[in-house]
Amino acid sequence: MFDSIVCDRKILDGMPHVKGTRIGVKLLLELLSKGETADTITAKHPELSMEDLRQAILFAACVVEKQVPDLDQDEEFSTSSFQKDGMCGCGQPERMASDPNSPVSFNEILNEYTVDSEGGSRQYSMYFCFFCGGKMPKSKRGDFFTKIDDSELGAAMDLVSKIESEKDIVRILGEPDSAQHFDDLPEDMKEALVRDEPRFKDELMFSRNWSTLQIHIRTYEDGHIKAGYLPKPLQKPLGDSGTDV
Ligand SMILES: [Zn+2]
Repeated sequence: MFDSIVCDRKILDGMPHVKGTRIGVKLLLELLSKGETADTITAKHPELSMEDLRQAILFAACVVEKQVPDLDQDEEFSTSSFQKDGMCGCGQPERMASDPNSPVSFNEILNEYTVDSEGGSRQYSMYFCFFCGGKMPKSKRGDFFTKIDDSELGAAMDLVSKIESEKDIVRILGEPDSAQHFDDLPEDMKEALVRDEPRFKDELMFSRNWSTLQIHIRTYEDGHIKAGYLPKPLQKPLGDSGTDV
């Protein structure tokens, strides 16, 4: 399926690129986003075929879906670090996760490696190894959270777009399932929150009328309102795994 797109550690630091060229998938997407067309790109880069371009776009689409196809690897690349199935085989994430000073940690419940920043207040899931590029173990996130349904998200965003002021919130979304006043938060959480955002007044969470998502609405002193959408937890909160004590 992707015979035009390859990775080679010696070319573009191992980033996916068009076979036989130094043209990365990333560059092609950037050109398209700047308004270049398939015709102008292939005219400027005669070494590229339309098929190469088609595969590059399709490859990017797979990456967005987190279904990264296995690519041809050059011999050295594949034997030194990748395992046959494309899984990370370098052992570096495990080593880092066991070092308390490194930002990488392993969440056993989710079966995910994460990179923590801002003292752990933000965590980024690692789907690929930073060192060898191999896939990380399959996350169990799907066992704990719903996958947000696109049409439900569309409906939620539609409703939220009608909110113009604080008094519209409950009229449009119904009674919130929970409300958190910023002033009532523990001090350390307040500090962590205001580090990257202005402090909000209230955070309202709407869950019961939605099957795959939760709407989080934050209100601010200056009257502006911000909305976020999160997947709905399927089970009890994480970390609360002990039931039969
Ligand atoms: Zn690795």
